Amino acid sequence: MTAPSRKAAGWEAIRKDAASLVPPPFLRDYDAERAAFTWEAARAELDGLPDGGLNIAHEAVDRHASGPLADRDALRFVRADGEVEALTYSELARRVGLFASVLRELGVARGERVFSLLGRRPELYAAALGTLKAGSVFCPLFSAFGPDPIRQRLLIGGGRVLVTTRTLYRKRVASIRHDLPELRHVLLVDADGSPEPDTLDLTVLLDAARPVPEAVHTRPDEDALLHFTSGTTGTPKGAQHVHEAVVAHWATGRYALDLHPEDVYWCTADPGWVTGTSYGIIAPLVHGVTAVVDEEELDVDRWYRILAGQHVTVWYTAPTALRMLMKAGAERAAAHDLSALRFIASVGEPLNPEAVVWGRDVLGLPVHDNWWQTETGGIMIANYAAMDIRPGSMGRPLPGVEAAVLLRGADDAPVLRDGEAVPVGAGEVGELALRPGWPSMFRGYLGEDERYRRCFAGGWYLTGDLASRDEDGYFWFVGRGNDVIKSSGHLIGPFEVESALMEHPAVAEAGVIGVPDPVAGETVKAFVELRAGAQAGEDLRLEIIGFARKRLGAAVAPRAVEFVDALPHTRSGKVLRRLLKARELGLPEGDLSTLEARP
Ligand code: ATP
Ligand code: MG
Repeated sequence: MTAPSRKAAGWEAIRKDAASLVPPPFLRDYDAERAAFTWEAARAELDGLPDGGLNIAHEAVDRHASGPLADRDALRFVRADGEVEALTYSELARRVGLFASVLRELGVARGERVFSLLGRRPELYAAALGTLKAGSVFCPLFSAFGPDPIRQRLLIGGGRVLVTTRTLYRKRVASIRHDLPELRHVLLVDADGSPEPDTLDLTVLLDAARPVPEAVHTRPDEDALLHFTSGTTGTPKGAQHVHEAVVAHWATGRYALDLHPEDVYWCTADPGWVTGTSYGIIAPLVHGVTAVVDEEELDVDRWYRILAGQHVTVWYTAPTALRMLMKAGAERAAAHDLSALRFIASVGEPLNPEAVVWGRDVLGLPVHDNWWQTETGGIMIANYAAMDIRPGSMGRPLPGVEAAVLLRGADDAPVLRDGEAVPVGAGEVGELALRPGWPSMFRGYLGEDERYRRCFAGGWYLTGDLASRDEDGYFWFVGRGNDVIKSSGHLIGPFEVESALMEHPAVAEAGVIGVPDPVAGETVKAFVELRAGAQAGEDLRLEIIGFARKRLGAAVAPRAVEFVDALPHTRSGKVLRRLLKARELGLPEGDLSTLEARP
């Protein structure tokens, strides 16, 4: 299979159109940066602890609280009514020390797991960092999970402590408590002096506590975080991360997000997903910047108000959010002063070239796509500050990261020669793989050793994604291994088809799957969500099919287009193509614990 046709002609055209893709102010030199980089040098930017210890909480909070950044805002929480609660580095450190002390008093041991089921409120951030400071392992759950996904994850993780609210406890946890014998303590952040039966009042415990002065001297390879994957391809896996991941959070914060001390930074992801922890908590704090947290859910005008009102300089968001802003129209952005903004990055799903150019035209800045996974713990491939953006590409590997596209055999496994995997040539499609050894690399899927082992072959970590690489070393996402469509001898990546559909003015978002066909093997079917004002109907359907044929050719364009009110997404914002497919074929729907409940 050759690389997506978009790449040959498409991005050149877009680049011409986007001639003013402005270089970010801190533009640096890609090759020079890569050549100069070592993980040891990155590690030396951090403090460390005696006896070779390394603890994320020390690097993110404690070291700043005792230095010149002590009075700087570490976190700014924007409440529903727009009020802002700011925590300085020293105040955050105090709360983190108190939470660590509470765990100690409760007898929670080093390495035991502390879960949270909380919205994005200050208590969640103090619990996360306090747990790390105490040497225990933190596992954030998304606060909209129902009882089943909560039970499933607490059981896998053997959770000892759960921090939550009264309402969430009553509605989602009380009924499953008897299934969780290992869960010793439930701490309510809002018990207000009268905790529910079998729970403790966290405020009372914090009031009685004396802050733990110093972080536990955890070893760099000691467990710190447990993160469940998004469940896009099936049952979520619990990826285990260690304290030295903070070295990668520092490095990627600097190179991929271009963080500088004076920045006001906003990551829109929830800490229930790895992005919301690695880049919503750890990376910004390690850099000593001010991180904005929106306590509410996505709302177009609210988001623009936050960007403008907080003078956000660096913004890290996701394609699904950008598509919602695009759908709402440029006028909504024009009503706000976004002049403080200097860098925008996106992750989670392929970023359509349309969105990159829209960013430039409407927000005044192109969007920098980057790629990584729960398993990688941090950004691996990015259109980062030191290089030109190629719209539609995920970018190039970060300093310290070696990536390759590997040849796959008939069984879809990488082809090995003398025990080594074989890379494909430029422009060819294969499995995206990374050379193990970066610090935020996951160290296992909890309780699934065999599944973990299967992620490695011929000296590489296999990502499960298909991609190609061009002559200049830029990587292009093609699709997840399972989503790729095989039609009349062609391999078709859903992303390419979805991106082409989104170029049609009536299309807001598209999800593309393969449906069985006696002649072609599979044919392409697209589910399309329309922009406000577009009229669904036979004329538009044919027009969209014709439009896609012109862009993609008859072999790749969808044969069928179905209009839907809303595409199914995971709660982390990814199109759930496997659900579209299961529904289309009348098959079991599989694990839907991460399905977003749409209004
Ligand atoms: P699961 O592993 O449970 O099926 P998931 O893979 O969606 O879920 P995450 O770890 O949250 O869980 O997502 C990582 C995946 O998201 C990547 O493997 C890739 O498929 C996709 N992805 C992330 N960023 C990008 C990007 N910039 N471009 C294309 N795909 C991306
Ligand atoms: Mg995955």
